[in-house]
Amino acid sequence: MLKTVRISANSKTGPIAVTYRSGEHETYGTCPTSCSLHPKSETGTSQIDSDYLAAVFDSVPRGGQAWTYSHFAAEALPLPQPNKTVINASCDTMAEAVRAVELGRPAVYAAPLESADQWPRKIHGVQFARCPAELADNFSCQQCGGGRPLCARGAREFVVVFVAHGTGKKKVGTDAAGGCYAASGPTAIQWHNTRKNGAANDAAALREFVRTLPHGSFLRHHIAGDCGLEVGAP
Ligand code: SF4
Repeated sequence: MLKTVRISANSKTGPIAVTYRSGEHETYGTCPTSCSLHPKSETGTSQIDSDYLAAVFDSVPRGGQAWTYSHFAAEALPLPQPNKTVINASCDTMAEAVRAVELGRPAVYAAPLESADQWPRKIHGVQFARCPAELADNFSCQQCGGGRPLCARGAREFVVVFVAHGTGKKKVGTDAAGGCYAASGPTAIQWHNTRKNGAANDAAALREFVRTLPHGSFLRHHIAGDCGLEVGAP
């Protein structure tokens, strides 16, 4: 199920186009079960939805930029290509992020709350730096990178660090399941609403949506949800 938003009210992304993706039966149905931020009580999947992933990769607004993140294994994600969506590997450990960079994938790292003052730093020769929207008020993806948002740079060699936020922030970087930032608050409301009212054919809905966006738009795919294929009713 896909919900499309032409102008987001989310203060972190800024007023850009965004989507939310949910399973038909379970809100977390498109997320990999292997994601360590996935709440234990929720159901996920181990398979990628190749139709949806292809639609995400292709769906870049004309003259614009598109990016997203996935918790599936880095090697399962498409390598960056010109005029395609940049799919960042979302990593739960620094070692995973370094490996993703070595595999040629742009990577981001969900860092524990207590690491907040430890960035930037180099790990195994790879630079890690915090998302600038976490460091300044009134700063969003729309302003990031002077027109080239850091997460939309496919060929970058540095890892973008997101320090844990949301109500589950204390679980990030621990052995406890959970910590997903979309588990509560306004993002959770939008996400659960996606399961009830989103478009059923998400790949087709996405391809149609991107055609309607103005030239030069930014599109952040699935603020919540991932590229997985829901396994069916519980
Ligand atoms: S690094 Fe830039 S593009 Fe990525 S989430 Fe932060 S503000 Fe947005």
